[in-house]
Amino acid sequence: MSGAIAIRPGQRCHRPRRGEFFFRFFWGHLYFLAGSGHTGAVVEGASVGGQIRRLREHAGFTASKLAESTGLDVDALRSLEDGGQAFEAGTIFRIAEFLKVSPIAILEPDSLPGRLPVATRKNGDGVSDATAWRLASLAELHHVLRINGHLASIPARIGEAPQRTSQTWQEHIDGLVQWANAQLEFPTPGANRLVDLASAIESRLGVDVMVETREKGAPLGASITDSEFPFILVNADQSAPRALFTLAHELGHMLNQDGHRSHVDGHFGGSTDNERSANAFAAAFLMPETDIEEIITKHGRDVKSLAYMLLQCSVSYETLIYRLHNLRHINTHGRDQLKKAGRAGLIHALKDDDLSRTLIAALNTKLARRPPSLLTKRCWSGVVDGTVSIRPLAGLLDEDPDDLLEKINSAGPESTKAINGDYSSPPDTDEAALSAYDVDPTTLQRVEELTYS
Ligand SMILES: [Zn+2]
Repeated sequence: MSGAIAIRPGQRCHRPRRGEFFFRFFWGHLYFLAGSGHTGAVVEGASVGGQIRRLREHAGFTASKLAESTGLDVDALRSLEDGGQAFEAGTIFRIAEFLKVSPIAILEPDSLPGRLPVATRKNGDGVSDATAWRLASLAELHHVLRINGHLASIPARIGEAPQRTSQTWQEHIDGLVQWANAQLEFPTPGANRLVDLASAIESRLGVDVMVETREKGAPLGASITDSEFPFILVNADQSAPRALFTLAHELGHMLNQDGHRSHVDGHFGGSTDNERSANAFAAAFLMPETDIEEIITKHGRDVKSLAYMLLQCSVSYETLIYRLHNLRHINTHGRDQLKKAGRAGLIHALKDDDLSRTLIAALNTKLARRPPSLLTKRCWSGVVDGTVSIRPLAGLLDEDPDDLLEKINSAGPESTKAINGDYSSPPDTDEAALSAYDVDPTTLQRVEELTYS
């Protein structure tokens, strides 16, 4: 077999510069492949070389730029891309890191990491790159867990959403909203609308939702829309009402199945059909026409009705104005007037103090960090059986890896058995039962009596 990869697991690998997951499972992954009879396809130099060329061209780099940036001779790189030369694992790491893809994307073009689009570096900004890189690392984590049998407890159901046939795009989006409402049984509006929606998306559609703090100026949201591992990432650095729209927008991408496998949203300007569709989905899903009309019928077109709509839908002021405009309750001039007044204008115009206070609190609700529950559970079992290191789990939970490891170790398999099994035991003596009150209920540690002198 000419052009086979020479993999030398003993060799020191290139250290990742970013605090993401890449490279951490990689050696384990290669061992897995070596032991699975899978190696034939993977080490076939021509397919790996071809994939490197494809990824490089998608990213918009010339062979000489890639060679120069990874310390390779350009002729060697060309020969490598033609499948005429053996690869060293270190070379694959360097190329993967430079192209901001998982090494698995190079070795297994058909895997999820291999299917994800490559960010175009030419006009790319570093911040969206970091989010795309985050998605790629999550896809890599999923892949490693999947090949080791750690599957999601709830299968992804996004493929069941209605496909677009001959309808207009608006009719198609209306159909998706109906479908989503039927599946999610979206709970009645309230203060926890975002948390409720995120949980419903996970438990009913099998789609992970993660809310995490990203770097300054990072995109508001991003998603992997591939049905093998659907995933929504929401930037925690926005108010809860804005984040709710972000979540619904990414859900729109997910259900719209537009042929892209991932999306990174820096803003929600509707410059393409996909973006318009995702916005239309989010608006119709979060602010149903019937709800809006009911409020207008009841309260008229008074400033108070705007406040009631905001509270009922838990959306931002700007999002509500956008919706009223596309439902034709206001015209372009009306929209611009309301935009100019802003939410400060609305709050000022409200004569009702209680309503103002409630609205201010609602619009300023902060967003809580939220780990993706399906992936976290899979990752947890991956840590327990040694498939993955503690780091990706610590990353999902936003904990220090060493602290988390200590917690897991101090829990130990015995205590897990106690929880999984029958934890009942013979009754305590009266004295022991009384002493049960002597502990701090939050730490279960014995409380020393405090004396005052
Ligand atoms: Zn979008």
